[in-house]
Parts: sequence; C-alpha cells; structure tokens
Amino acid sequence: MIRFDYHTHHYRCGHASGNLRDYIESAAAQGITEIGVSDHAPAYWFDGVNHALPGTQMAVTELPVYVAEARELQSHYHGTIAVRVGIEADYIPGKAVELSVLLSANPLDYVLGSVHYVLGRSVFDRGRWLDERPDETFRAYYELVKDAARSGLFDILSHLSVVECYAPPMHESLQAELYPSVADVIAASGCAVEINTSGYRKMGADEPFPNRVLLRELIRAGVPLTFGSDAHTPEQVGFGRDRVLALLTELGVRTYAPAQITVRREPLWAYMTG
Ligand SMILES: [Zn+2]
Ligand SMILES: [Zn+2]
Repeated sequence: MIRFDYHTHHYRCGHASGNLRDYIESAAAQGITEIGVSDHAPAYWFDGVNHALPGTQMAVTELPVYVAEARELQSHYHGTIAVRVGIEADYIPGKAVELSVLLSANPLDYVLGSVHYVLGRSVFDRGRWLDERPDETFRAYYELVKDAARSGLFDILSHLSVVECYAPPMHESLQAELYPSVADVIAASGCAVEINTSGYRKMGADEPFPNRVLLRELIRAGVPLTFGSDAHTPEQVGFGRDRVLALLTELGVRTYAPAQITVRREPLWAYMTG
C-alpha cells in the first residue's frame, strides 16, 4: 500500500473543489499517513498582476493565507496524519528570479515543478495539434523539463509526459532519442519525479504520468519516485495507488524510504531506484 500523496489541490486555484481540511480528512480516512497539500502557485510571471488567471491559479495575495492555513492544519493534525505544506509551481523560462522571490517569501516543505505551457500554449489545448508539428512540441516540452530540473527551484517534477496526453502518439524513435537524456539530467539534478495518476483519469488509458517507457528510463537513471494523485476533489486523494504499486512491482521497484530529496525541510517518502 502506498501511504503518501504529495499532489493535491483545493478551492483556491479556482478549478478544484473542497477546502484543505476535506483533503486531509479524505487521506486520513483511507489510511494515508502523509499528505502533501500543493495547490497551484499564483501566476507569478504576469508582473504586478495579483490574480492573472483566476480559473487556474490562486491570487498572489492568497498565497500567504494558504500557507498559514496549511501550517495551522499541520499542527492540528500532528499525531494523526503528517501534513506537508507544498505548492505546484509552473516552470516559466526566464522567470526563475520571480519564482524564487515568491518562494522565499513563503517558506514551504517542498515545491512541485510543472511544465504546463510550451511554445506559448497550454499542454491541455487540444486545438494546438491541428496546427503544430507534434515532434517540435515534444522536443520543446522535454527541453523545458530539463531546464526545470536544472533550475534548482523544484524538489519534485510533476506529471512528466503530460504534453503527450491529447497529442498524436509519439513515435518510438523519438522516445528513444529524448527520454534517456531527460532521465539523466533529472538524475543529476537531484529532483524526484512523481507518478501522477491524473494520467489514468485524463487519458482513460493504462498510463500514469510519466508513461511507462519514460518511467523505465527514470528507474534506470536512479531517479527517486514519489506518488501524487493530483486530486481536484477530496474523493480523488490517493487515486490509483493500487495500480501504481502494481506498476512499480512490474518494473522491479520495491523499496521506499524517507528520502532527502528536498533542499527545503523534511525528507519526503520516495521509491528508490537505480
Ligand atoms: Zn489543477
Ligand atoms: Zn496539479
């Protein structure tokens, strides 16, 4: 049984439901012993705008309120369930300084790093595949993932291979060209990668994020693997844990330990590979 989940949202981002307490209660009721709250960080790359993307991210002024509420719940639930206070922050090239200012003003236990925008468009924009050359988008996405790993801003890289979810299938030869170096760069960076079960929900398929081909490369390179449901409702906390455990077993990964993967505070649970 996987007893931790480091990727959850709540109402502040504008597209998830429930408050922080609902997610923690849902985790505790399922026997999860450590939950990370990690709502979408403000859209910090719109300089000087407080709430640039209301349906996607929380407001800049809401961030300290979120952190304070999460810390309060962390103490409240101490002894019942461990609560880690994190955030999911976008990696936007050229905006590292803005993000590090935001993060140092609001100390967190860990930071998830996500690439949601490639070549100026959302990875979830299905229309892009009508007028883009997929291979170029894939290359650009995985370059951003490598830059995110090298940036030193993040502890865990989120939902890798998400760019492929609505895209035409990526050819095996391109996977063979891109994935090994992505895995090697991440291994060298010290970041962990999460196995994110929104892949099962979004694709209605048998693949989490990252897909198992990339997962094999990450395991070969020795990248620690965490788990994240990417819950946007309290009921989704822990989603797909059984399938992930079966997948890890199939891939030969068995041991997990508290890993010092974060430069920030507490160690987090991770499956050790390599
Ligand atoms: Zn979200
Ligand atoms: Zn998320």
